Amino acid sequence: MPQNTGPNVATSTNASATPNADQLTLIPIEDRGWFELLSRPDYPAIEQQIRDVGACENPVWLSGRTLLVAVATGEIVSSWSSAGTPFGAIPLRCMNRRATRCASCSRLYAGDAFQLVRAGLSGGKGVPDVVSGHPLVFATLTAPSFGPVHRRPNPDRPRDVCRARRGKPRCPHGIPMTCQQRHAPEDLLIGQPLCVACYDYPGHVLWNAGASALWARMVDFLYWRLARAGEIPRPHIRRTLRVEYVRVAEYQARGLVHFHAAFRLDGPEDRSLEPPAWATAELLADAIGQAASTARLRLAETVEIGAPVLHFGQQLDARPIVLDTGLPAERAAGYLAKYVTKGTEDAHGADRPITHRSQIAALARTDHVRALMYTCRTVGALAPYEALGLHRWTHMLGFGGQPLTKTRRYSSTFTALRQARADFRGALRPGIEDEETVRDSQWRYAWQGWPNATIAEQAAGIGEEAEYNREVAQDSADGLARGRGAE
Ligand SMILES: [Zn+2]
Ligand SMILES: [Zn+2]
Ligand SMILES: [Zn+2]
Repeated sequence: MPQNTGPNVATSTNASATPNADQLTLIPIEDRGWFELLSRPDYPAIEQQIRDVGACENPVWLSGRTLLVAVATGEIVSSWSSAGTPFGAIPLRCMNRRATRCASCSRLYAGDAFQLVRAGLSGGKGVPDVVSGHPLVFATLTAPSFGPVHRRPNPDRPRDVCRARRGKPRCPHGIPMTCQQRHAPEDLLIGQPLCVACYDYPGHVLWNAGASALWARMVDFLYWRLARAGEIPRPHIRRTLRVEYVRVAEYQARGLVHFHAAFRLDGPEDRSLEPPAWATAELLADAIGQAASTARLRLAETVEIGAPVLHFGQQLDARPIVLDTGLPAERAAGYLAKYVTKGTEDAHGADRPITHRSQIAALARTDHVRALMYTCRTVGALAPYEALGLHRWTHMLGFGGQPLTKTRRYSSTFTALRQARADFRGALRPGIEDEETVRDSQWRYAWQGWPNATIAEQAAGIGEEAEYNREVAQDSADGLARGRGAE
């Protein structure tokens, strides 16, 4: 249950609707809270509040009022206040993007992310449709190795084991550098090092911390590669074409981020203009591969760590997105959007900030993650690396970047999509403001979370029901799309 300093919740405000003491004893004790909730005369209003915030798991409540006042006379044209509502406050969505924190708000965020990515590939949401004809490339950039780790077997190869090596080599600590197991998907060993003493923990957290800066360096290299391909002087390339992209960061089991991205080439002035004809999708894919394999980022030298040089790993993938054949825009968008509600859970990290070293032991689920978190604290304390924010991003294993980033012109923004939706805002704005009226709003934070456990359960039930209906609707739509819905 979320902590809250919640409101005083009267079990009922209307005696006639409340079961009397005799009736109540007939109801099993665990159901009494629920019975009382449904007997409240204002229950329909409570259920409406739950639906208004999409059954958010941890809503923020505001109390206050909004007045619409006539400028000329000072007369109140209309007013709206939280005073008449069941708890004297109105709920707003928590807007947490993490699925582990709020299923409802994370789904909304993933939906917005999908719209953002797709609009950049095929138009819509204010992006001209012609972008779908521009060169489009889907790419995956990974981190290098910081030591051998246990890995997931290839499902298509039944005899594939974790790490088979001829001659059964051992590391300097005497630990075998082989593993004959086929780890099950939920095996916590996946992603953990074969030898903890050999593993380069400082290198690992510094890579996560510098990954966004390394990406920026890669984009510079990409422009230079394109300049060379087009035989254009480097300083002129950004006046010849523009590289627009959306990038999503995903955690691998070993606790390193890697990036999935959709790239698009536009003309220099406007995204509705095509880039020069020589700049094809194949050429772009090739240039991304070259830029990613040559980009380097030097970090400050320290006695403890030396002079780290960050670069991407060998596993690179860059291929054109083709709208009618090949990797279609819908799939690319779905692929990118599915990572944005995740944090470090695939790497067994924590889903909220760690403010003190003493929290690490309890929050990390594996020795590997524990070691990464301690390393964030230790390396983050070295003066040259303080600016990387390793302390602050301990729970993210060093990576402080956004789950989704994009160039300004790639597509629309989360803010624009939210404004367009403006689901809850209507409640705060009675009437329409015009030249003759002025709005006077006074709202303040009241508390966070549902007022009690029964209402929280009811909200969860309504959320599950909505999710079930969505799935049924999706299945029906899929069935219709496959031509089986007409039976
Ligand atoms: Zn929420
Ligand atoms: Zn293994
Ligand atoms: Zn070793």
